[in-house]
Amino acid sequence: MADHTGKRPKANRKRIDTSSIKTTTLLSFVVFALFLVMVLWGLSNFFLNRFYERARSQEVIRTAETLETQYMQDRSSFSTFAIQAAGTNGIYIRIDAEDEKLIFDGTREVQGSDAFESDVARIEGLLAVSSSDSVNESRRDSSGMGSRLIYASYINSDSSGSILCIIAPLYPDQVTVRILRDMLIYISFIVLFVSFLLAFALSVRLTSPIENLTHAATELSKGNHDVHFDGAGFTETKELARALNKASYEMEKTDFYQREIIANVSHDLKTPLTMIRSYAEKIIDITGDNPEKRNADLNVIISETERLNKMVTDMLSVSNLQSNNVEMHMETFDLVQAAQSVYESFLVLESDGFEIHFYPCKPAYVVGDRSRMIQVMTNLVSNAVKYSGDNKYVEIRLSRSSKKVTFHCIDHGVGIPSDEIGHVWDKYYRTSANHERGIEGTGLGLAIVKGILNLHSAKYGVESEEGKGSDFWFEMETVKKPATKKTGSDDAGDAEDTDNQENG
Ligand code: ADP
Repeated sequence: MADHTGKRPKANRKRIDTSSIKTTTLLSFVVFALFLVMVLWGLSNFFLNRFYERARSQEVIRTAETLETQYMQDRSSFSTFAIQAAGTNGIYIRIDAEDEKLIFDGTREVQGSDAFESDVARIEGLLAVSSSDSVNESRRDSSGMGSRLIYASYINSDSSGSILCIIAPLYPDQVTVRILRDMLIYISFIVLFVSFLLAFALSVRLTSPIENLTHAATELSKGNHDVHFDGAGFTETKELARALNKASYEMEKTDFYQREIIANVSHDLKTPLTMIRSYAEKIIDITGDNPEKRNADLNVIISETERLNKMVTDMLSVSNLQSNNVEMHMETFDLVQAAQSVYESFLVLESDGFEIHFYPCKPAYVVGDRSRMIQVMTNLVSNAVKYSGDNKYVEIRLSRSSKKVTFHCIDHGVGIPSDEIGHVWDKYYRTSANHERGIEGTGLGLAIVKGILNLHSAKYGVESEEGKGSDFWFEMETVKKPATKKTGSDDAGDAEDTDNQENG
């Protein structure tokens, strides 16, 4: 079939993926098995003869010792014993008396000793001149198949001075060689086959948990949060599955919060927008000609616009703080004095029946962005006012230890349920009770507070009990008062201040 370019699509050939675990495991095992087989063949071809010669020489010398013992202990049964030993080992055995008289040549039939006469004569000659009781030498066989060992020793306790002579071929016979070759071929095939099976089983076992995980991850990427990652089999894949399950849970939570946030934000934005629209329509339709009513309606529009403006500014602040995209103007300033200015800005609420108390301590200099720290304290006091309920009593307290200053904003209002207390610092989080009460808010204030305090590496927290009130606090390191021109009032202030003096 031709595609839209008119060209025939290429046949979809399935290629072997050389980087997959399956192929790699299979190839590794096969290569290893081939290497093993090659080593076996190499060893058999290059070293077998040498190994054989050495083992055979040792065997012949051991047999010679046994024969000597047998000859000395029981000469009558020696003949049978020697014939048996010669047959079993494929060797030529004979015993010569010192006067060159042949005492025993019982295995002549077995090996056809005629060809060895010269060997016997030479080794006996060597033994005669040797200081040792036994001599041996190996000579290349005229057949070209290998060497032969020629051995001679005195049978010591024999008063006649007899000599035991053994001639043994040091190469395996053809049948043995063929059997060995055949065995090697079988072994090679078995090694290859077993390693292939092993490689296949191992690769399947290795890849199956990974395939399961991949399948689950694909499902997750499609938005299915019900998937469960199962890394059964290996510790590593189990750990990976555990991490993925956690990530999936966090993603689900984030998704949920995101939906919540969008719902909350759109609701919060909609309220002032509806108000602005309604009041604008009211001015057009009804109050436009009445300057007094029109101004009142316009004031509502302005205050709703301010609310909108604050919401959008807060949203921007939180997002900037979260992305660390904030410029800090660090300076050394007196936190107590900054708190005092915050307190004073709230005094206007006294006309609404609020009681706001200020308990400062001695001046406490800190390094930070003064205006942002004022924003922190303003947010905390404004929350305390907002959530103080009918009690309407708010305390701002500062206390100092040698190197620290702590700010407390205390109210005796609605408080925070214990299971929700950990979330109040999350952006857009609003406690369920406050939602129900219909208290206005965006859930951004404390997220901004947290962001700013983190930038100052300050400790912070909240103690609260539902229905009893809350104590929001933060703590900063103090520094030495900056060296400035001393004024009389500064000195007096320093001297007179005592911890937790009421000023409200
Ligand atoms: P909001 O604009 O809703 O006040 P915040 O981030 O300032 O947003 O506060 C988050 C939530 O923490 C509030 O919705 C409220 O439920 C709770 N909260 C904050 N301060 C107090 C307080 N002083 N008393 C009781 N609840 C509080």
